[in-house]
Amino acid sequence: MPLEIKEMSISYEILTLNSQVVDQIAAGEVIERPANLLKELIENSLDAGATQVRISWDKSGQSIEVADNGQGIQKEFLKQALSRFATSKIRDTDDLWKLSTFGFRGEALASAAAVSELKIISRIASTDKAYSILSSFGSVGEVENASREIGTTIQISKLFENVPVRLKFLKTPAAETLAIKNMIKAFALKNPHVEWVALCDHELQLVYAKQSNSIQRAEEVLTVKPLYEVEKIDEGMGLKIHFSDPMNVQKTGKNLFLYAQGRLIQDKSLNVAVLEAYRSLLMHGEYPTVVVMLEVPPDQIDVNVHPAKSQVKFQDPQKVFRLVHRTLKDALAQAPWAEKIKKGEPSDYRPLEINFHSQVEQPQLAYEPLFEQTNYAERLSPALQKNLVIEEVEARNLVSDSVGFWSRLRVLSQAHLTYITAESDDAFYWIDQHAAHERVIFERLSLQVSEGSVSAQKFLFPYVFDWDAHLIEVVLSQISVFEKWGFEIERMGPGSLGVVSAPYLIKERALSAFFERVAEDIKSFGTSFQFENKLSLYLATWACHSAVRAGKPMSIDEMKSLLKEMDEFPLSTFCPHGRPVFIKKEFTQLDREFGRLQS
Ligand code: ADP
Ligand code: MG
Repeated sequence: MPLEIKEMSISYEILTLNSQVVDQIAAGEVIERPANLLKELIENSLDAGATQVRISWDKSGQSIEVADNGQGIQKEFLKQALSRFATSKIRDTDDLWKLSTFGFRGEALASAAAVSELKIISRIASTDKAYSILSSFGSVGEVENASREIGTTIQISKLFENVPVRLKFLKTPAAETLAIKNMIKAFALKNPHVEWVALCDHELQLVYAKQSNSIQRAEEVLTVKPLYEVEKIDEGMGLKIHFSDPMNVQKTGKNLFLYAQGRLIQDKSLNVAVLEAYRSLLMHGEYPTVVVMLEVPPDQIDVNVHPAKSQVKFQDPQKVFRLVHRTLKDALAQAPWAEKIKKGEPSDYRPLEINFHSQVEQPQLAYEPLFEQTNYAERLSPALQKNLVIEEVEARNLVSDSVGFWSRLRVLSQAHLTYITAESDDAFYWIDQHAAHERVIFERLSLQVSEGSVSAQKFLFPYVFDWDAHLIEVVLSQISVFEKWGFEIERMGPGSLGVVSAPYLIKERALSAFFERVAEDIKSFGTSFQFENKLSLYLATWACHSAVRAGKPMSIDEMKSLLKEMDEFPLSTFCPHGRPVFIKKEFTQLDREFGRLQS
């Protein structure tokens, strides 16, 4: 059948859009998705001085309710609250610069009302009567009697039902729920004095009781403990940062929160300021937990640049960057966690408890390196190379000594929370604690693999990964490789894979990161690439995750036992990433430099 082509009629008449259309367009800007709408509602509650906020939603995200104990809305203003540009918060443009409330555009409720059924129930303190008003996709009904305590409830249902396009853009219920929960967490973090309760489909999701102190709230919300705190006031700017120590890492940046004037903001440059402060303390792909709270003089920040107000413009972004970077960096340099440990709280580092066939008995066992080692020394300038004595051959021969070369060193101290300083009869040694431990873990694992004796731990409950069926097929097709490396995996259902056991050397917390990585690579490369080699590389990375960090205080005994562990292997000149494990300086060289010895 031939296509019927209709002629388009174009009108040249210029009209002002009717308010309903305007509201719908605005709704698109302010409330892209349920979480954004929720943000607006919560902000209104906080603006109204609420100290209790109860949030519920249904899985689809199309019904949302926020109830608070704030000051309420007067009966006479209920209707107005729903109309566009109706706000009780500013009167003129001057107010824009002195803003202390979240809302001020007066468009959130109007926008939401345009694309949903929205009901307000509210009561103010001076009366015991509550009132409600219902708006259905923009058409506002009459004020009616209702009942509730002092405060306001906003009920939204059938969200976006009159804008099917928006409905189509909603993500899966799980994704919307996650976004909503993250939004609530972000508010809870910044408002410890408020009690938060959140329910999805009547099931309790989050509860945060009132807290007097923001560090406790942060530990509670982010489930990272301990966190540390630093405060700074500089040139009229106030800054407070909660931060984790460098041993306590995340595999994504999800725990970086930035607030300016109490608002959660997105700011790439400040993210960089934070990560830069941690540089050299974290490995590639590791992220800290950091909550930055900034208060800037109102005339130095514009919060009105983005409809959802998630971006701000600083008058002097450099200044803010420097303040955040410096403050955090200085705080990290003081290593407050070291204080804690000195005070008797136990440190994480334990010599590994795993027992496997002793390598000392068969030191000449030829093990094949599983991947190319980078020759670090070759990349250095000749001048530096001269000072760096990295003697692989010597070190390898030392292994057969009964006491072991490393065990015989005298440990002097830990320097810079990173290096073990030690001496032998004729030289000084600096050993990178992290690189050394990493190497030990990696060698152990490699050896176990080549002997087919990886010591694995069986989990009481398998770790389950929900992946698509195809991916699971592919992973299962490599089952023998996984087994060799000490993993026991099995299909748990059409879309889930269970990890029943894993090598001891992997900390449980690194497990999901590891499998996500593997899955991602299989997805992008298939299994045609050298899967096994790749796996060994991952293991190197992850040996690295389990190893003791730079920045971690170590006692003399801990350092000694790490050196002892180093003796278990044909050593260990480079960490699995190709950095040197130790640097040595002969005393004769030192004597020469001090002019005690003529060369
Ligand atoms: P804005 O917050 O920008 O003023 P909104 O559309 O979000 O605009 O809200 C309109 C008005 O409704 C607010 O100025 C406030 O007076 C009132 N309002 C909305 N939610 C609440 C609430 N939870 N408690 C008290 N008043 C509220
Ligand atoms: Mg508002």
